[in-house]
Amino acid sequence: MDHHTTEPGPPTTRRRFVATIVAAGSLAAAGGTSTRSFAQAGAHVDEADEQAVALGYKNDTAKVDAKKYPKHAATQRCSNCSFWQGKADDAWAGCAMFGRKHVANGAWCQVWAKVPGAS
Ligand code: SF4
Repeated sequence: MDHHTTEPGPPTTRRRFVATIVAAGSLAAAGGTSTRSFAQAGAHVDEADEQAVALGYKNDTAKVDAKKYPKHAATQRCSNCSFWQGKADDAWAGCAMFGRKHVANGAWCQVWAKVPGAS
């Protein structure tokens, strides 16, 4: 029967079409996911966050309670802490204590540690 030999055309085309739609869908999903995680990575730590409260984190080192944290000094700030992951003049950057969230340049928490070798 001859008509069997002429049939493979349309089904193949249909399979390719479906494959293209699926691939486009996966790309869109992947793009959406990476956009979301990027936004989350740059999210700022809120002083009211559980972890921030636990560590005595303040966005402004000058507002740290001196009675509660007697070892704190006004010269201590995230940007000169050994856990600061940014450059000295970055406004916000990552900190090992806060996972993917960012802490402020002039902030402070009780884990503050001098950068080794700094004066
Ligand atoms: S560990 Fe250092 S960089 Fe992180 S929040 Fe505390 S003072 Fe800032």
